[in-house]
Amino acid sequence: MSVPTPEETLDPADWREIRELAHRAVDDAFNWLTTARERPVWQPTPEDIVARFHEPLPREPEGAERAYRDFRELVLPYPMGNVHPRFWGWYMGNGTALGAIGDFLAAIVNPNMGGGNHVANHVESQVVDWCKEIVGLPLDSGGLLVSGGSMANFVGLTVARNTATDIDVRREGVRALTTPLAFYASTEVHSCIQKGLELLGLGSTALRKVPVNADFEIEIGALERMIATDRKAGVKPVCVVATAGTINTGAMDDLSALADLCARERLWFHVDGAIGAVIALAPRHRGLVAGIERADSVALDLHKWLHVPFEAGCALVRDRAAHRAAFALTPEYLEKTARGLASGPLWFSEYGLQLSRGFRALKVWLSFKEHGLDKFGRLIDQNIAQAHELAALVKARPELELMAPIVLNIVCFRHQVPGRPDETANKFNEELLIRLHESGIAAPSYTTLGGRYCLRAALSNHRTLSSDLAVLVDAVVKIGREMTDAGA
Ligand SMILES: *Cc1c(COP(=O)(O)O)cnc(C)c1O
Repeated sequence: MSVPTPEETLDPADWREIRELAHRAVDDAFNWLTTARERPVWQPTPEDIVARFHEPLPREPEGAERAYRDFRELVLPYPMGNVHPRFWGWYMGNGTALGAIGDFLAAIVNPNMGGGNHVANHVESQVVDWCKEIVGLPLDSGGLLVSGGSMANFVGLTVARNTATDIDVRREGVRALTTPLAFYASTEVHSCIQKGLELLGLGSTALRKVPVNADFEIEIGALERMIATDRKAGVKPVCVVATAGTINTGAMDDLSALADLCARERLWFHVDGAIGAVIALAPRHRGLVAGIERADSVALDLHKWLHVPFEAGCALVRDRAAHRAAFALTPEYLEKTARGLASGPLWFSEYGLQLSRGFRALKVWLSFKEHGLDKFGRLIDQNIAQAHELAALVKARPELELMAPIVLNIVCFRHQVPGRPDETANKFNEELLIRLHESGIAAPSYTTLGGRYCLRAALSNHRTLSSDLAVLVDAVVKIGREMTDAGA
């Protein structure tokens, strides 16, 4: 068979055109980013725009110019909103300019980070080492970059499970376990821990949810009693999952006390530090995570409080050999050579589930170098100070009520509906939040604490100014008044 002429490639026919388009894209992107404050935080995507996403498979070329125009018209105007200074929903990062350039450059170099002897693996290795340094784990620990906190927790839980038993669980599977395994975390634990245990074949009942105190921190005494009860019942306690910064309220479990307990009870000490591990960088608050350096495994998110563009998380495991033993599997087509491209010690695919992996390390590496980690630490302190400031603004308004103590950067509050049952107040605040989102003024999210629905602002935004907090409080009070006046 002969090769068709002319031979085809995906490269542009005219590099000057794509280069010109790229320059325009950069200008459009930074114009969009630097004017975010002037636009609504969020707005719904209009129906006619949504309809465009149901067009069939494009068999014929549109060309780069039209494809880019579609992006500008269909995608760019309707963002989630987390680049905006008044976005405080769930728990987000905002991205950075150089981080975005990092994503572009990573895609240009486009290495596959499964393994092999090429310099990009040194970039990831260095970034992972820096993460060890941030939390104080030894440099000979295992680790790799992953999509985010969920996957980082999954890595830690997997190694904990595999290390806990006498059987070869990779070979025999969990059906060969003679005693059920138990993992412990507070009732405030993130849902990804349960998902992880489900995927590990242990079932959600393997997760023992320990009560919390008034500050939403795990009750150590209750935890000890649950461990003792399990041992008596022939269940094998395996691991304590501490949360450094809970998603609901930002509560910090007492890591030092939990490290002591795990040492005493010979349990795996895992820290879900998706939110809080990086507080170790913050000069005024690093004491909150004292004890994290004693963890057997830590999950960090880099796309939350360190603002690396999504996705970027990091899994660290103190025992590198155990980490590798949980994931390494080397078929003949992946065997290493002594020299050449298939040589070298850096095969990240042996430490996680993915074989083909993207070069997410580059945007992290560039971000860390650009700003220096001390600045990220100061920004964390700044956000925590802003949370206290917002709490004070809430307290100063008789219409509003603070719903949880401020430990970190999460503020839960609601509009009061005096003399009405909780259910009515819940509905009122739900409607108020939707109206706030639709106003485009600010975007906190929501949670329910002790059956009481509240607005929840997670101040992890590096673009937020003090004045933005007053805008939020004013808007909530104003919408609340309109609703009350209308008899809602
Ligand atoms: C966000 C979060 C996770 C999950 O991390 P992803 O990056 O969203 O996968 C886990 N734990 C806590 C405490 C979180 O806040």
